[in-house]
Amino acid sequence: GLPEVPARPLAERRVSRRIQVGPVPVGGGAPVSVQSMTTTNTADIGATLQQIAELTASGCQIVRVACPSQDDADALPVIAKKSQIPVIADIHFQPKYVFAAIDAGCAAVRVNPGNIRQFDNRVKEIAKAAADAGVPIRIGVNAGSLDKRLLEKYGKATPEALVESALWECSLFEEHGFRDIKISVKHNDPVVMVNAYRQLAAQCDYPLHLGVTEAGPAFQGTIKSAVAFGALLSEGIGDTIRVSLSAPPAEEVKVGLQILESLNLRPRRLEIVSCPSCGRAQVDVYKLADEVTAGLEGMEVPLRVAVMGCVVNGPGEAREADLGVASGNGKGQIFVKGEVIATVPESKIVETLIEEAMKIAAAMAAE
Ligand code: SF4
Repeated sequence: GLPEVPARPLAERRVSRRIQVGPVPVGGGAPVSVQSMTTTNTADIGATLQQIAELTASGCQIVRVACPSQDDADALPVIAKKSQIPVIADIHFQPKYVFAAIDAGCAAVRVNPGNIRQFDNRVKEIAKAAADAGVPIRIGVNAGSLDKRLLEKYGKATPEALVESALWECSLFEEHGFRDIKISVKHNDPVVMVNAYRQLAAQCDYPLHLGVTEAGPAFQGTIKSAVAFGALLSEGIGDTIRVSLSAPPAEEVKVGLQILESLNLRPRRLEIVSCPSCGRAQVDVYKLADEVTAGLEGMEVPLRVAVMGCVVNGPGEAREADLGVASGNGKGQIFVKGEVIATVPESKIVETLIEEAMKIAAAMAAE
C-alpha cells in the first residue's frame, strides 16, 4: 500500500538563495522544477504556443525559447502573455535582445557569458532593467561556447574553467547589486558536469539549473542525464533541471519528472513495478506491462501497480502494491490492497487492472 511515512529524498537540499521565475520559485528549498525548451521557430507564434501547450500538459513548469533574431524578439510579448507557464528568453551574442525580452514580459532571461559580445559595458543597464522588472537572469555557461580567455587559460572546458566563467559573470552583476541569478555550467560529459556543479555549489549560494548539454538521442541522453542529475541531486545539489535530448521536448519533461520522482524529490505518481520476466514467466510480461502503462498514462494519483510474470515474487510484490497481478498458468490473480479480488484469464488482465485502478483513483480523489 501507500507508505505510511512520507518518502524522503536522499539528502538535505543545499541552501541556496531563492529567485522567482514568474510564479515558479527556484532555490531556497523550493521543489526542484522541470523545464524544457521549444524547438519551433520562435517567430512562428502559433507553432511555439502550440508546443508550449503540449509541454505544459506533459508537466513542464518553465519553458525556454530561443531568441536569435529581431523577428523572434518581436514574437516574445505574445508568447510571454499567452503561455500558461513562465517563459525564459534564451539570448546569445546580442545584448539588445535581453532588453527586448525584459520589455516583452518574459519571466527570466538566459545569457551565455561566452558569447554575449560587448556585454561588459552594458551589464549595468541590464542589471537595472532586470531589477526594475523583477526578472532574474540565468548565467548559462556551456562547454561548447566557453569564453576564449578561459579556454586559453585552462586549455579546455574543465570544471574549473566553467565555474570561473560563471562566477566571473556573476561578479559583474554583483557590482551593480544584482543577485537575482541562477547558474548553469553544462558539459556533455556527465563526469565533468558533476564536478563543475559540485565546485560551483561550494563556491556560491545561487540556485543551480542542472543540465548535461548535447546529451544525445533519447536513450543515451536519458541515461547521461539520469546519472549526472542523480549524483548531484542525491547530494542536495540542483534547484531546477533540464534534460536535453535529441527528441521532442515533451520527452525531456517525462524524463525529468521521472528522475525527480525516483529520488523522492517529487511525489510519485503512477509507478509500475513489473518484473523483467524470465524462463518461469507464464504470460507475456513485456506486453502486459506496456499495456497497463499505456492504459494508465496521465493518472495523477500515486499508484503502485505490480505486473508480475509468475508466482515466485508475484504474489509478494502484488500484495505490496496498491494493486497488481501475479500471473500463472494463463491466468492472473488480481490483488487490490493486498487482497485477491479476482482470478481472470490472461486476456482480461489488463482491462481488469485498469478498471480497478480507476476505482482506486476515484476513491482517492473523493477523500
Ligand atoms: Fe521470473 Fe517470476 Fe520473477 Fe517475473 S516474477 S522475473 S517471471 S521469477
